[in-house]
Amino acid sequence: TAMPVRRPIAELPDELVSQIAAGEVVDRPAAAVRELLDNALDAGATQVTVRLLGGGIRCITVEDDGMGIPPEELPLALRRHATSKIRDLRELECVGSLGFRGEALAAIASVSDLSITSRTPEAAHATRLDARSGELRAAARGRGTTIEVRELFFNTPARRKFLKTEATEQAHCLEALRRQALAYPEVGFALWSEGKLVEQWRPAPRQQRLADVLGEDFVAASRPFEWEVPALRILGRLGLPEAARARADLQYLYVNGRFVRDRTLAHALRSAFDDVLHGQRQPSYWVAIDINPELVDVNVHPTKSEVRFRDSRGLHQQLRRLAVEALAQSRAEELPAAEP
Ligand code: ADP
Ligand code: MG
Repeated sequence: TAMPVRRPIAELPDELVSQIAAGEVVDRPAAAVRELLDNALDAGATQVTVRLLGGGIRCITVEDDGMGIPPEELPLALRRHATSKIRDLRELECVGSLGFRGEALAAIASVSDLSITSRTPEAAHATRLDARSGELRAAARGRGTTIEVRELFFNTPARRKFLKTEATEQAHCLEALRRQALAYPEVGFALWSEGKLVEQWRPAPRQQRLADVLGEDFVAASRPFEWEVPALRILGRLGLPEAARARADLQYLYVNGRFVRDRTLAHALRSAFDDVLHGQRQPSYWVAIDINPELVDVNVHPTKSEVRFRDSRGLHQQLRRLAVEALAQSRAEELPAAEP
């Protein structure tokens, strides 16, 4: 076979660099929704409203009542590696916010038609920045931020081709919202599609939010557990064997308010069932781990959906023990009361 022709090394144009980076973070509308929700929560929103057209492919709007962005910083919000959340390595190592990479808005803007409208409490009016034209102009809205994402992947046809039907993309967006709603019960969330309200969760105590999002059935067929030592708190609800499911679709694990996937911890929960889960049945659970940020590395994956614990084995043991105890306690409750 012929030797490939060598071409000179050249730096990629900025826009292409952003589009390549976007591929890592935003593969579908739901990924954009997740990033925009992260930003709203980092901004201290108490109410977040998501509106979709065409399952999020035609338009995603995320509206919050958070701290807003001052007009002079709006262009910076769209720059790659520009963030208000960390300043140096020390802050990265103990990051408490959901965002810190300063990449999401730049990435989304490079594969869509994006605008930001924002108003800080001090501002006399809101300001809107149109990413394509770079144009800034006065706008009307209360305190907070609205991000509008139109025609996602219009300029990256390969990615656009991989999108599923609008109904499927919308279902993924709803799932992104459920994941956040389960971690932030004190925040109100609403999802609209084609101008109709699809789902709404008002601020509520934690258990009520779990019931609102996962259903009363899950709450009734699950048992709570809680454990706390300095620098670590584990809070959870484990579905009883009868609440096990055919698919692993009711498994919510959070680390410091962030939805993550973790094989070790998933194994800890699964193994607590020993032989009582038949065949391939999957346990259902909601587990929130709050841990000193210095004991966990969140900078492992561009989407931050994986983390690394300093003491993964110790955490596995604790979680397994909590799960085993929760199951044992529920079995004890079910034993018929002894004759007096
Ligand atoms: P990151 O969240 O990692 O900082 P982003 O690209 O998502 O990066 O956002 C860039 C910056 O824009 C944020 O650091 C924040 O200062 C600002 N920002 C984005 N969304 C919002 C919002 N909804 N409310 C207030 N500020 C926001
Ligand atoms: Mg962000």
